[in-house]
Amino acid sequence: MIYLDYSATTPVSEEVLDTFVKVSKNYIGNPNSLHKLGVESKRLIEASTEQIASLLGVKEKEIIYTSGATEANNLAIKGVCEKYQNRGRHMITTRLEHSSVTAPISYLVKNGYDVDFVELDENGLVSIDNLKKVIREDTILVSICSVNSEIGLVQNIEEIAEFLKGYPKILFHSDMTQSIGKIEMNLENVDLISFSAQKFYGLKGIGCLIKKENITLEPIIHGGKSTTIYRSGTPAVALIASLAKALRLIFIDSQKRLNQVEILNQYVKENLKNIKGVHINSNSNCSPYILNISIENIKSEVMLHALEEEDIYLSTQTACSSGGYSSALLAFTKNKSYAENSLRISLSYLTTKEELTKFLEIFQKKMKELDFSESS
Ligand code: PMP
Repeated sequence: MIYLDYSATTPVSEEVLDTFVKVSKNYIGNPNSLHKLGVESKRLIEASTEQIASLLGVKEKEIIYTSGATEANNLAIKGVCEKYQNRGRHMITTRLEHSSVTAPISYLVKNGYDVDFVELDENGLVSIDNLKKVIREDTILVSICSVNSEIGLVQNIEEIAEFLKGYPKILFHSDMTQSIGKIEMNLENVDLISFSAQKFYGLKGIGCLIKKENITLEPIIHGGKSTTIYRSGTPAVALIASLAKALRLIFIDSQKRLNQVEILNQYVKENLKNIKGVHINSNSNCSPYILNISIENIKSEVMLHALEEEDIYLSTQTACSSGGYSSALLAFTKNKSYAENSLRISLSYLTTKEELTKFLEIFQKKMKELDFSESS
């Protein structure tokens, strides 16, 4: 098997799974229980939270555990809008966001909020000049992803955060699902940050919203007190411990892994560039973990399934989006046909050059076969 879909999800690391199993077996108490077993579970959560906070350079009380980035994005966006609606009902975002950001925004728009999409410059970066123009008196939230999940565009998060410091009433949320553990970013001036463990060899079903301590939110899940007042439910001890483990592991040698993936990305990109009919959509401003291409004359889904027959796995648009084209690609390339037929190759430090060589060989073979059958 050649797996080139690491941005959709990563395989869980053995050590992370081990932590999950051991904690599930050995910590049976509900962390909210007052007896010894409860206290033991609570202590383990506190130790895990301390570790996560120290790895990310945030405070322990700023960590809200969620079921993943989708819930974290929903909590950030709906939570801010509901809490601060008296200040205003206007939001700003980009055309590069994941559906777990655009969907809660659309929901809010249906319920009386307003949204503007900030323009991108020719490199796909948020235009600060345009951001300045779309900010209004009643703007309460700006939500911009750190790395777009389809093309891999890395945003100028630090510059945007610095600029937004001049607007203390506007909160800045960033969906960092595709950058945490991969691309280092300064989180200092970002008010709300979402991510999911499944993108860095952790388990599916756990993620975080980091919420700076001076901000409050309206919860979207109500119930008893949990690790915070913002998300009720019995804390998932084993998942939380496994998240701490996954984060600790991904931070070891992260620069070395990044360099390794850069070399792999360069290798596959240079080879794809030379294949007639292939257009490279990702630019030099993109994360090396993601390479987006479009193919002339061949539907991306047809190619995806043709590769699947050979045990090669990659994505068309992000695994979570619906509809016939990628709105992120359309906004970036302004080319409908590229947006309709894009493939995402996503890499990992686990990817080998041999795998990519084999992929390139089979990809070219399929190009010839499919192009022939489509034109005949
Ligand atoms: N944001 C981005 C940028 C993503 O890539 C994903 C996962 N594809 C999510 C949010 C949602 O993550 P989850 O499914 O773990 O909730």
